[in-house]
Amino acid sequence: MPAAYLEALNPEQRQAVEHGVAEHGIAGDSADPAGPLLVIAGAGSGKTSTLAHRVAHLVVAGADPRRILLMTFSRRAAAEMTRRVERIAGQALGGKAGILAGGLTWAGTFHAIGARLLRSYAAEIGLDPGFTIHDREDSADLMNLVRHELGFSKTERRFPTKATCLAIYSRCVNAEAPLDAVLREAFPWCADWTEELRRLFAGYVEAKQAQNVLDYDDLLLYWAQTVADPALGAEIGGLFDHVLVDEYQDTNRLQASIVLALKPDGRGLTVVGDDAQAIYSFRAATVRNILDFPGTFDPPAAVLTLERNYRSTRPILEAANAVIGLAAERFTKNLWSERESAARPRLVGLADEAAQARYIVERVLEQREEGLALKQQAVLFRTSHHSGPLEVELTRRNIPFVKFGGLKFLDSAHVKDLLALLRFASNPLDRVAGFRLMQLLPGVGPASAQRALDHIASALDPLAALAAAPVPPRAGADWPAFVETLLALGGAGAGWPAELERARLWYEPHLERIHEDAAVRRADLAQLEQIAGGYASRERFLTELTLDPPDATSDQAGPALLDEDYLVLSTIHSAKGQEWKSVFVLNVVDGCIPSDLGVGSSAELEEERRLLYVAMTRARDALDLVVPQRFFTHNQSAQGDRHVYAGRTRFIPRELLDLFERTAWPPAASGPIAVGPAPQAPRLDVGARMRAMWR
Ligand code: ATP
Ligand code: MG
Repeated sequence: MPAAYLEALNPEQRQAVEHGVAEHGIAGDSADPAGPLLVIAGAGSGKTSTLAHRVAHLVVAGADPRRILLMTFSRRAAAEMTRRVERIAGQALGGKAGILAGGLTWAGTFHAIGARLLRSYAAEIGLDPGFTIHDREDSADLMNLVRHELGFSKTERRFPTKATCLAIYSRCVNAEAPLDAVLREAFPWCADWTEELRRLFAGYVEAKQAQNVLDYDDLLLYWAQTVADPALGAEIGGLFDHVLVDEYQDTNRLQASIVLALKPDGRGLTVVGDDAQAIYSFRAATVRNILDFPGTFDPPAAVLTLERNYRSTRPILEAANAVIGLAAERFTKNLWSERESAARPRLVGLADEAAQARYIVERVLEQREEGLALKQQAVLFRTSHHSGPLEVELTRRNIPFVKFGGLKFLDSAHVKDLLALLRFASNPLDRVAGFRLMQLLPGVGPASAQRALDHIASALDPLAALAAAPVPPRAGADWPAFVETLLALGGAGAGWPAELERARLWYEPHLERIHEDAAVRRADLAQLEQIAGGYASRERFLTELTLDPPDATSDQAGPALLDEDYLVLSTIHSAKGQEWKSVFVLNVVDGCIPSDLGVGSSAELEEERRLLYVAMTRARDALDLVVPQRFFTHNQSAQGDRHVYAGRTRFIPRELLDLFERTAWPPAASGPIAVGPAPQAPRLDVGARMRAMWR
């Protein structure tokens, strides 16, 4: 009799779960698993759930969980997946669940897994295993330092910003494309600087190597290069009997080359994804990876599609299908749902972003009254700063919320300061960390920090050399305590996580001096210590945190926050793979979705359309698309910040309107203008403008 967990699946899901797994165990022995499998299927059809079942099924059939590599889009997704696998397999195995004791040790993001493998293979590939990892901000800071050193920051015409430089560099690496091509295709306005950029990137790479730091891109790049070596590739690939990847449509070329190098013949390889949800091409992800997957192998990979959507009600799914149905590209999946409902998704017209914030708060509270917890509701938006007015309103009304995809906990200055201290103690060649720290001391500015760093750069024992580094007289009093703390942290120290307390004790007086709101910040640091308790070592803690900063809802955040009810605010990008009973999408207007910046080419425009599709398909029972007639843009162009009048998004043209319930808010203002002018309407709707003036 098949296990209960198999019976809950539909036939296609079950086929995917059982692919290559014989009834009484894995086909052949576990070192010779089944051929490659691709599950390509629409939103909410159970791809992630099927993947979790497949892993559980493999384990139940005898696969060693420590030899299963599972790669997901975020650490949160990996943790959730691990929990599900353990639950499903644990139930099926009953008393034998001890097999799972070690758990799925290799579940995580590409970057986290890469960091771990690189540390253990460091000696083989000429890397110092003590490397520290730079997050995007650190990377931009280092890029900036090099930019200054080369004198590019003082050019006559404005040289590209550090963020742009990093974006260009990152794209070259991730797309494995030459600089000229990347400039031509994605950054044409920087093409004049080709030679300077080449020198800058050469300097940046040198600086990283001299300082023993890796940035995010290096983790993939080094990993890809390591496994491209036939012997190392075979050895590392040999660590895993099964490699499974979720959200494969958003991998880039490097990631695909890693996957293929681990399993060149595709045996034991399973990838799942949805080409209609590809939304990361701005980070060089390419949907070709998933489309070309089957033909990469001989014989080609097995392909399964899932067409039943279990997530959304029929009216929501129909509207989402209609939006993606207008895409230039045809997606072959035909999604259907059996979840009947009379409620169509809503298009809510209102005056401006202030009204939008009030509307959402009102609706959210109403739904909570009706029994829908805040956690079952989410507000999604195209760009992080779009939620500003709403955050203000939520705070004013005392409604707890957490935000994904925007400023993370770890981006705050004080948390970064403390982490820099740990990082610098681990790797005193990490100049970005040292530079940041030294300037916390009164009297130390950029120039003296540079001098001190130069002084220790070539020393045999850099931390010890720090004591004799040249420092301005004003810093003299604080310097010994600084050095002593670093030496204590650099040595065997008090052990983890006790040493974090030592770091905090040094930092707190500086925190008090620098920040007026020190009390709030101290609470953050206390939370950081609590999070730290969940990690086995300082190195593990720093690596994981840098790669995928926790948000308040991750399980490490401590029980206090987990018990609380809160509303989720998230960028659409960060909402990938998730679902809520009720979903609000902000600013569904031209200029936001599609973004002003996303209408340059038809490829960009299509990606914006898929983004709206991703947002709509997060909803289970209720979906509100909000259409303010006026919104505020942070524009980097010459016009600067301004209010603009917008029309409803062009992705919902007139012929789709019947799929929505159109309402105006507040209700008194109802009328045909409620959902904004149709896209065919004149560019400037003077009438709407006049009406808005009197509201
Ligand atoms: P996305 O494309 O958004 O990542 P997905 O294809 O990964 O979606 P899941 O998140 O795995 O879809 O599943 C969507 C919802 O459908 C979940 O709530 C899941 O529990 C439910 N579901 C999936 N398969 C079944 C099934 N056979 N029976 C009942 N519910 C199911
Ligand atoms: Mg999924």
